[in-house]
Amino acid sequence: MKKKALFLALALAGSTTAHAQTAAQPETAQKESDSTETTSHKAVSEIDKLTIIESLQTIKKDPSQVKFHSAMCYDMAMPPEYTTFSCPTCGTETQYSYQSYQGEVANRVAYLIRSIGQIKAKTEVDFSDFCNKCSKDNDGQPKLKFTTHCLDCSQTFTWTANTIEELEQLSLLFVSFPVTEVDQGHLGQQKIEPEKLSEYLSNRLLCPACREKHGLK
Ligand SMILES: [Zn+2]
Ligand SMILES: [Zn+2]
Repeated sequence: MKKKALFLALALAGSTTAHAQTAAQPETAQKESDSTETTSHKAVSEIDKLTIIESLQTIKKDPSQVKFHSAMCYDMAMPPEYTTFSCPTCGTETQYSYQSYQGEVANRVAYLIRSIGQIKAKTEVDFSDFCNKCSKDNDGQPKLKFTTHCLDCSQTFTWTANTIEELEQLSLLFVSFPVTEVDQGHLGQQKIEPEKLSEYLSNRLLCPACREKHGLK
């Protein structure tokens, strides 16, 4: 009953024509999906429970079956072969090998769009090289391009992230200032040598002239 009331409220919020057309159908559709959801929910949690218990038993019996490693050895047991780049501009989807540079870019689209506002100098990211449709240059070497408005003088300048390592370093730009700590990521792996941090940040927050002016070259 509650569901019906909610549905009516939603329908009323929409246009009246839409209401007339959809009023009959979703009620049944909702019911169907409700029942499948309940069954699958139950099945999944039953399997989960079993898996967890069995795993706990296995580990108890033989802890050496568990691979204890630092996060740097992170690797999926079965990484998918391909990943899909969904162009944020035109929506075209392009497939890339999961572990390639392009694949790493594809996997970061949402993350980058979400976090780019945290960079202290206004920055825009250009994914066009990775989209079959939007790509302009055909030199075969796609680049993740950034345009930054200099923190000091607002002049724009561009820079790129051309390797997987450089993609990983991007999170360094999301630090807060004054910088008191830096997340180097996985244990045993460095995103950047500490003595290069200042240069890295300067080159992405300030235009060349302002770097020079502030002795940051
Ligand atoms: Zn596109
Ligand atoms: Zn400047």
